[in-house]
Amino acid sequence: MEEEKFICPECGSEEPGFAEMVSMPEPTEKQADKDPWSSILQQTECSICNCIIPNHIAYRWENISIEEANEQWNKLYKKNNHHRKFD
Ligand SMILES: [Zn+2]
Repeated sequence: MEEEKFICPECGSEEPGFAEMVSMPEPTEKQADKDPWSSILQQTECSICNCIIPNHIAYRWENISIEEANEQWNKLYKKNNHHRKFD
């Protein structure tokens, strides 16, 4: 299987930084509703802008387009990004 390239939806960089596996208890539906990050289990830091990007967006799992990835990023994940860095 061919692996997709990392692309940062924030700055367009193709340089991944640290990859992290997130371990956390199963989110309840309520939590996932409030914070889309609560269902993210794998994430990669962009080495250029230091944003933490969920892997399904950075690597466009399920064949989503770059446009779709950017849209999801802007709509769901970007505004909550800061609190992931420090928890
Ligand atoms: Zn970036």
